[in-house]
Amino acid sequence: MKLAVFSTKSYDRAFLEAANQNYHHEITFLEPSLNPETVPLAYGYPAVCAFVHDNVNAEALRKLAEGGTQVIALRCAGFNNVDLQTAKEMGQTVVRVPAYSPHAVAEYTVGLAIALNRKIHRAYNRVRESNFSLNGLLGFDFHQRTVGIVGTGKIGAIVARIFQGFGCKLLAYDLYPNPECKEMGVEYVSLEEIFSRSHVISLHCPLTPDTYHLINPETVSRMQDGVMLINTSRGGLIDTQAVIDGLKSGKIGSLGLDVYEQEEDLFFEDLSEIVIQDDTFERLLTFPNVLITGHQAFFTREALTKIAETTLSNISQVEKGEECPNEVSVERIQTKK
Ligand code: NAD
Repeated sequence: MKLAVFSTKSYDRAFLEAANQNYHHEITFLEPSLNPETVPLAYGYPAVCAFVHDNVNAEALRKLAEGGTQVIALRCAGFNNVDLQTAKEMGQTVVRVPAYSPHAVAEYTVGLAIALNRKIHRAYNRVRESNFSLNGLLGFDFHQRTVGIVGTGKIGAIVARIFQGFGCKLLAYDLYPNPECKEMGVEYVSLEEIFSRSHVISLHCPLTPDTYHLINPETVSRMQDGVMLINTSRGGLIDTQAVIDGLKSGKIGSLGLDVYEQEEDLFFEDLSEIVIQDDTFERLLTFPNVLITGHQAFFTREALTKIAETTLSNISQVEKGEECPNEVSVERIQTKK
């Protein structure tokens, strides 16, 4: 099938081209992101491939339909950037990659926590400047600390297993407790207890109306003094101003983020020559006890291979008129609710 890939980076191209050896789609790689203004680039392409920050809203979908696009293939798990109701009205099929490598994200989460705790990022810079002082680099043992995990699906469960290997006490909160976690001795508690008992809190639930700003002034106030907070899930789980206030008061002892609520305007691009206009983000960067990365937890060879394979396989299934298990539609979401 003729496929226009939007928001292409060099790594997308490399992994999609390798996977396409088995699928033989006719792929055009485009650097611009997909939004109503850039839709004309897709005219004549029955399929487009989009990523997390592409804006596939109603207007974009209508224009895509006018240009003959019937398949929207997301090379990510989230589909909140696609107006599914309009896709349905336009008769367009939306497919996604529901899971690629939970290990990639889980391993990164623990790596972020360790780097933040032991200040490895700061030590790296110091040593390059021949500064071998240890002042300010003091950390704590994870061993025997209490780690609270919010959301014990594919990623949260692996994070639990890794922290268990460190000898941590594990608490979890999930609407649907995971039997695998229960078996490994994770104690399911209320959110209230996660906040009040944990030394480290790691977020792994999806962003939904229920979880939006789960971390807010009120929940921060219920946390232990000096708590470590880690978010590799979705930026909207955290009210950024609340954590800035928590960091200033010392309530939050350290903060590790791979996601940020307003990340669409920042992440995945080299903005090093540009004056960043987001003052909240810039304030976060000033704290010595904050470590931020730009949505890279998923970024491993294994994950990119799976993303490329699944995306092209999804398109082949739709092209052949086969049932695609990775289709997302208004009906499927309603059935799951
Ligand atoms: P998953 O669907 O396997 O697990 C999510 C878990 O959250 C489920 O067990 C679910 O029951 C639970 N949950 C849902 N609503 C909840 C609520 N209100 N309170 C508590 N728990 C709730 O998903 P996953 O594959 O483990 O992914 C977790 C999150 O990680 C995703 O939602 C995504 O936002 C994020 N993610 C980030 C990256 C990255 O690169 N940083 C990559 C992939 C995924």
